[in-house]
Amino acid sequence: MTVADFMAAANGHYYATRDPLGAAGDFTTAPEISQMFGEMIGVWIADLWSRAGSPAFRYVELGPGRGTLAVDALRTMARFGCTPAGIDLVETSPTLRAAQHTRLPAAEHRDEVDALPDDAPLIVVANEFFDALPIHQYVRVADGWRERMVERRDGLLAPVAGEIPADDAVPASLRGHPEGTIVETAPVSAAIMQRCAFRLARQGGAMLVIDYGYAGPAAGDTLQAVKAHRFVDPFADPGEVDLTAHVDFAALAEAAHGAGVFVSPLATQGDWLRRLGIDARLQSLAAAAPTRADELKGQRDRLVDAQAMGDLFKVMAFTAPGWSAPAGFTGDAV
Ligand code: SAH
Repeated sequence: MTVADFMAAANGHYYATRDPLGAAGDFTTAPEISQMFGEMIGVWIADLWSRAGSPAFRYVELGPGRGTLAVDALRTMARFGCTPAGIDLVETSPTLRAAQHTRLPAAEHRDEVDALPDDAPLIVVANEFFDALPIHQYVRVADGWRERMVERRDGLLAPVAGEIPADDAVPASLRGHPEGTIVETAPVSAAIMQRCAFRLARQGGAMLVIDYGYAGPAAGDTLQAVKAHRFVDPFADPGEVDLTAHVDFAALAEAAHGAGVFVSPLATQGDWLRRLGIDARLQSLAAAAPTRADELKGQRDRLVDAQAMGDLFKVMAFTAPGWSAPAGFTGDAV
């Protein structure tokens, strides 16, 4: 099977059968590190919404995990009178749906983006969502490009070059790379991004995507597996480890452009959180709870510092025609 089919099947089982987040799980995400992360997103939404004339809107999250980000963002938004007409969570995992329901009893679950209501502008948040979606991998062999397939060899799963030429599937700008190079594409991610962008163009609203990734297009094997906070072999224990790949933000931008929405410049998570005011928020939280000041500073550093999440994680926003430029980015919207 293709790496993409392998990743989809393995992650489908993985997410359906556990809550993978937090110290006792396999990995920790920004909203689980600190309330300040969701709060900055809440400030970002409230600002954009008020500049759009404070319309009725729906809060949408893709892959909301435990619902922590939504709780922190919605609490912050409410301080600005920014309360959604509905909360829609696009989530496939029954286990995580149950966790989300406990934290957000008013929220409604949707199986996919196409099932979102179309009666109001949508403000969509996707944190560490696209990295979990399946990628195809192509490998350069002596006479061209082949799709990478997962095969059982001597009882073990391993990636091998397929037999059918696949040059056309590799972006033209990357085809000249030498033998051994791996190139990734993410058509499922592009399709979901495009569906969201179509909705923004039709209904109004905005979308915020935060994930680890690169400006793109670029060559390289980014498929990785994590178990109990350690990197492991992506092929060794399918369905029992978290499989992710870095997100190609240029590919998301291209998918959205086609649908007629504005795309922000790419920002690093560190820069974006500082521009939104995370340091002021840290000061007020620390002043209110002096015994927790060091702990809060440590959380802020993990989110913002270049050697922690600050540089690897990127932020990109998408806005409907008629909505003004979102906060936190420098340079012009594209
Ligand atoms: N956003 C959360 C969780 C990130 S983990 C946080 O930052 O903590 C990835 C999330 O995406 C999980 O909720 C997982 O169940 C969900 N997910 C993975 N594949 C999905 C798919 N194809 N459709 C909808 N949700 C999916």
